[in-house]
Amino acid sequence: MKTAKQCRKTRLAECGAFSVDLCDCGAVNLVVGFVTLRLEKSALADLADAIRRGLDALSRPERTTLH
Ligand SMILES: [Zn+2]
Repeated sequence: MKTAKQCRKTRLAECGAFSVDLCDCGAVNLVVGFVTLRLEKSALADLADAIRRGLDALSRPERTTLH
């Protein structure tokens, strides 16, 4: 992965060990501790959706198994 060109980042959100930065190249960086995931905006939306569904499933007393 190329890291030579430094992008300017704008912090969009922060919660505990997690933060979401918007890169001026258009990528979204999900920072988890020392790990940074570079995502497309649409991938971030998918991730958010997956997390939301996971949380929903956790809070549901009867879990539906997906296999
Ligand atoms: Zn960038």
